[in-house]
Order: sequence, then C-alpha cells, then structure tokens
Amino acid sequence: VVLTGGYGKFGGPFFAGNPLDRGDGLRSNEAALQKCLSDSRLRIIGLRDLKPLMNVAKGLDVHFITASELPADWQARLPWVYLGADECGPITAVDLDALDQKMIDRLLSDHIKAIDLRSIAMQTSADNDGQDASILALAKATIDWHRRHGFCAECGGPTNSQRGGFARQCADAACAAMHFPRTDPVVIMLAVHGDQCLLGRSAHFLPGVYSALAGFMEPGESIEEAVARELSEEAGLTTNSVRYFASQPWPFPSSLMIGCVAEVDFTAPVIDDELEDARWFSRKDLARIIIGEHGEVAVPTTIAIGYQLIKAWLDGHSDKN
Ligand SMILES: [Zn+2]
Repeated sequence: VVLTGGYGKFGGPFFAGNPLDRGDGLRSNEAALQKCLSDSRLRIIGLRDLKPLMNVAKGLDVHFITASELPADWQARLPWVYLGADECGPITAVDLDALDQKMIDRLLSDHIKAIDLRSIAMQTSADNDGQDASILALAKATIDWHRRHGFCAECGGPTNSQRGGFARQCADAACAAMHFPRTDPVVIMLAVHGDQCLLGRSAHFLPGVYSALAGFMEPGESIEEAVARELSEEAGLTTNSVRYFASQPWPFPSSLMIGCVAEVDFTAPVIDDELEDARWFSRKDLARIIIGEHGEVAVPTTIAIGYQLIKAWLDGHSDKN
C-alpha cells in the first residue's frame, strides 16, 4: 500500500521512515560505540520531561546539542541511547532531567525550547518529510522506556543500561536478567460493508472527531483475531474477513499501530463503555467529512493512521493489497 504523503522507503505513515542506520552491530561492541560517542560530529538530541529540544527560530527544527555543552561525564550521569548514524555522523538521545536546573537553563533560550512530540508532529506534518519525526519517535520512546524500567521485573533489583541503550540488565549478578525496550501492538481497523464504513468516537477525542476503532492486542491472539474481538466488544459487530493495511510507530508511550480493514456484517452498532458513539458513514458522507465540509463530524489529523485508513478506503486503495 502506498499512502498519501507516506514516509520512508515503504511509504509508511507519520513517525515511520527513520533514515538512520541503527547500527545494531555497534551496540555490543563497546570500543566501536565509544568511538562513535567521541566523534566530533556527534549530534545529541536532548529531552527535557521527554520533550525534545527544538529550534523555533525559523519553523521547527531539531536542535542538536554538542558533547561540549554537557558535563564531561554525561555518559555516566545521564540516560542515553545510541540512535544510529547517517552520512553526517552519529546521533544519540540524552535524558537531560538529571542535570541541575541551571545547566538545563543554559541549554534553552528564546528560540531553543523543549516541545511535546505530539505538538511537534501537529506542527510539522504539513511540510516536513517526516524523517526528523521518525528519529524523535525513536528517541522519545527509548528514553521513556529507560525512565520506567530502572528496576528488574524478575527480582526487583536495580538495572543498568546496556547495548547503547537498547537493553537494561539486572545489576544483581545472581539474576542478571536482560530487559529490552517494549513495543505494544494495537490493532486499528476500519469496519466496512459495501459502500459503508463504521467510525466511532471516544470521550477523549476532540469534539466531532470520529475514527476507526482500535484496541490493544492480547497475548495468544493473531492480528485478525484481535480485530474481530475488538469490533465485537466495542460495537457488537461480526467480522467476516480482515486485510492488513499498514503499520505506524506511535511513541505515546510505545505503541505499534497495526492498521487493518475488516469486512463485517451490516448491523446497528452496539457500543460498550469505551465509546461515546459509533455510526455507519457512506463513501459520499466521508468524502465531505474528510475535506472538512460536513460541519458536525470530522476525521483525525493526517498524522494518524486512522486518517490514512479512512482516506485509502475512500480512494478505493484499501480494496487491493
Ligand atoms: Zn533481577
């Protein structure tokens, strides 16, 4: 599937298309990793309260810190992740929160600000090629994981960062359990029947916004089974077939959105308490809704795979694999 405004080699949704060579081979080679970290071209993405430092002087650009702006022992003091490299050199992400306020203040200015990733995405989606957003998604999701996994899930002891920040190991030698950054799969599916599709809204959506239904996958379940279960639970629908559409990294905090189209029986939706409303819309209705001419109903922002699913179905692209 090629998406409207798709990013990267496979034309994925927003937050996909990371252009970096992640350098998995480097992560377990301490000498090679150190060489990268002491490279004079090293670019550091700083996160304050999980918000990347951005340059707002002209539009919105990632602001890279240099190692000379951080304490000499930053690698030992601050949680960091080796993100990879491109032709301009290596890139890391660093959690700035352990620095004292004075030092953080020195990194910020009138045009260097820590900005929430959702807000960055909303502001850059129209004119950005999406590559910066995909790197920021990796940075934010992994730094967030470090913050929440300081202790071993096996024995409760403290853990230490390993492999360039792509693992944590229990510090207790008797346990030594390895832990890896998690990705939580979520199915998001457009239920369709002929010329009709079903959209729902949760109470936390912006007023008037309807989208494809979604839910976390459960253990011991295929993607198709999760789609059918969620549609049954949330809207009382019976699913007859499921087609994969595309997937999207969604770093809030660590989801992978798995977009599908489900052929269902045409029945009145019976909603559960996760939804405020669910309705069938015709292609004709949606054509007006998607260009903002409906007045009452709107679809999600273009950065969301929910939008891409609706747009592809409307254009007839989701009918083919
Ligand atoms: Zn342990």
